[in-house]
Amino acid sequence: MVTGGLTDSAVKGSSEAYERACQVLPGGVTANIKYFAPHPIVMKRACGSKLFDVDGHAYIDYMLCYGALITGHGHPRVLQAITDQMKEIGTTVFGTPHELEAELAEKLTDFYPGVDMVRFTNSGLEATLLAIRIAKAFTGKEKIAKFEGHYHGGYNQVLFSVHPDLNRAGESDHPTPVPESTGMSAHDRTQTVILPFNNLEATERLLRRHADELAAVILEPVQGGFIPAELDFIHGLRKVTEELNIVLIFDEVKTGFRVSLGGAQKVYGVKPDLTALGKVLGGGFPIGAVGGKKEMMQMTDPRRGRDILSAVHSESDETDVLFHSGTYNGHPIVLAAGLATIRILEEKGTLDDLSAKTERLRRMLEEVYLRYGVPMQTLGWGSIFNIVLTNRPVKNYRDMHQDNQALRKALDYELLRLGIYVKPLNRYSMSTAHVEADIERTVEAHESALKKIVP
Ligand code: PLP
Repeated sequence: MVTGGLTDSAVKGSSEAYERACQVLPGGVTANIKYFAPHPIVMKRACGSKLFDVDGHAYIDYMLCYGALITGHGHPRVLQAITDQMKEIGTTVFGTPHELEAELAEKLTDFYPGVDMVRFTNSGLEATLLAIRIAKAFTGKEKIAKFEGHYHGGYNQVLFSVHPDLNRAGESDHPTPVPESTGMSAHDRTQTVILPFNNLEATERLLRRHADELAAVILEPVQGGFIPAELDFIHGLRKVTEELNIVLIFDEVKTGFRVSLGGAQKVYGVKPDLTALGKVLGGGFPIGAVGGKKEMMQMTDPRRGRDILSAVHSESDETDVLFHSGTYNGHPIVLAAGLATIRILEEKGTLDDLSAKTERLRRMLEEVYLRYGVPMQTLGWGSIFNIVLTNRPVKNYRDMHQDNQALRKALDYELLRLGIYVKPLNRYSMSTAHVEADIERTVEAHESALKKIVP
């Protein structure tokens, strides 16, 4: 019997820790994505590119907290920034304005073409949620459109057709919304239009059909962090949303600071109306941010009219101000970690070197799979990529489904046993902490896995 690719005896500590967790945490996890069968590996510590589990195994980490840790685990400058900040401010959090908020916001307005003003949140989910609320208030419309296979967080309006069963997902050029969770209502289903990624003709047709009801189109400019929007598609989408008065939201929670310092929008040369950020921006702490056009972002300005507090004393309970609040928004320790991370990334050559290193790993892996006669391609951009076991072109969610998932899963479990941490079927994220020896070991591990598993 194997456990996570590891023998039972080798992961005894993980197995016991998981059993204990199951008594008090449903499924033994604090987020469903952390689970994999028969049980996840429980970690004890981490350093640079490595994770260490409770049984003492070391893993080269390609998950990096779902891409957040672009400088690896515990980068000395990030750790220093956190301790310096705590010493300097004498507390952990103010709950009032402080100077770092504007400092980090200025960085975002400098880097991101679509960002004139910024609001911080505590997660990527909160960022897309706020962006959608702004779009609704700005346009006076209520529905949104999202793309099949794109993830924006776990709330009802966007929790459709992220990983839909294709038997329930309708036609490829006119997908139907498939809920990702129980507990969602029939009404929810009417509030979201599903679009086919990288299919401009069908997207445009659907947008024109629903234009009067659509407040926003939200998308990951690079689906899942590894399937880029085609140039014509993304420019076409900008054009048609502008014409139809639909707010264009780029969800750059994954691509922000990874495709470039200014995200995917900078490289595409497309200016969205609103941008959601997260992950890398927090240097390993919980964060999100919404940035966008001044006239849209200013809807949250409490000076605009009666805000929620003054409304308490008003005769009418209507308010002109778009509600946005949060106990920990703009947390000074989180912002210090984020700023330290961005300063590392700003140094000349850092992101280029990281992308080149990622590219090198991708090419080496492609060579190995070719040698073993396994149809395979790597897809990605910047420092994120995925291994897709098909030679057919992959432009969207449905194309992805043509790959050999069973083989990929078997390889991923074997890779775990060999000390390569990729959550089964997940993408690979790289960090500045990954060194040449990590790359070589990773390629060797793939070769061993292929040797063992491919007949
Ligand atoms: N948007 C995208 C593109 C994401 O990848 C994620 C998380 O993986 C989110 C939004 C949600 O971010 P968070 O997990 O910080 O709430």
